[in-house]
Amino acid sequence: MTITRGYAALTPGGKIEPYEFERREVGPLDVAIDIEYAGICHSDIHQAREEWGKAIFPMVPGHEIVGRISAVGSDVTEFNVGDLAGIGCFVDSCGECKNCQLGKNNYCLTHTTWTYNATEADGVTPTYGGYSQSIVAKADHVLHVSDTLDRAGVAPLLCAGITVYSPLRHWNAGPGKNVAVMGLGGLGHMGVKIAAAMGAHVTVLSHSESKRADALAMGAHEFICTADTEALAAAANTFDIIINTVSADIDLHPYIRTLGMWGTLVCVGAPGKPYSINGGELMTQQRSLAGSGIGGIQETQEMLDFCAENGIVSEVEVIDANYINEAYDRVVASDVRFRFVIDTATI
Ligand code: NAP
Ligand code: ZN
Repeated sequence: MTITRGYAALTPGGKIEPYEFERREVGPLDVAIDIEYAGICHSDIHQAREEWGKAIFPMVPGHEIVGRISAVGSDVTEFNVGDLAGIGCFVDSCGECKNCQLGKNNYCLTHTTWTYNATEADGVTPTYGGYSQSIVAKADHVLHVSDTLDRAGVAPLLCAGITVYSPLRHWNAGPGKNVAVMGLGGLGHMGVKIAAAMGAHVTVLSHSESKRADALAMGAHEFICTADTEALAAAANTFDIIINTVSADIDLHPYIRTLGMWGTLVCVGAPGKPYSINGGELMTQQRSLAGSGIGGIQETQEMLDFCAENGIVSEVEVIDANYINEAYDRVVASDVRFRFVIDTATI
């Protein structure tokens, strides 16, 4: 066991504060990573504040992790000490079920082991996330990260990036497709950059008029401020794909009405409360309502390679660890441009 320093919530909704804990020794199939940057995802806040139900405390959040490999297990061939590497939302899966065999181990039917707020496959040992100096994980759940991209900006790709990339690929975003992104936060701004790089026509649906110039600068072709209900209504029957990244409990109907023929609204935002849906709004234009959760390891690597080829990183505000609590409040107030990333050297 090795002692590492991190930041944790000790109780539901409690302040995120300095916390020391143990990481396991590096086993034959493991690698150890000296973490350099860890993104703050709204999911960290939902879980630390128990907005998704009962959680495990102390909780060291963080599932957007980038750093350098510091040790390699005896049976690991795909990493060397010094390599740049990343960890996202999960650190283990069974590898055998139907979904794992399909490469969709984010939907493992046996035990997707979340990076924190979970237990290892033994059902007992708690997992601790990236708001820390180091982590040990199975090498086959660790990603290769290109040295060509800004490292702080890469960290958010590990969750925000893959969470929008996967549905954009699945629902065939590309030239000739009208894609809308609801919410211009951490996920949303990655959705804009990735959908634009895929060649789609991209519209941002944001409740913050102040984000218009930023949206257009990062590749959006249009911006609709949803506070202007007439402007949103004027977009009726327009979009082929809508990626809903909104973290709050909202009425989806005004957005569903903007779906064109056979259009799909994909929920990736997870407010923790059920949506109320009038099926009649889906019947017209033969629309679909769908959901998507992160992506498998294989697809996450594909996304990282796509971003390296296209020079895509997240727009980040790098913070010291002692700013995490203020950062949480600013994320909840939609006041982040566009992802807070912790410089873990400050832990
Ligand atoms: P974020 O940075 O806080 O972005 C959410 C955005 O939603 C805000 O920037 C804001 O954009 C919009 N919004 C917030 N409150 C709103 C309201 N009352 N009405 C309308 N719009 C509102 O959060 P994030 O890290 O991108 O995460 C977004 C959601 O996705 C969270 O619920 C998170 O848990 C979830 N998530 C899901 C997955 C998955 O696998 N499915 C993965 C990661 C995260 P504007 O100011 O532009 O309107
Ligand atoms: Zn996340």
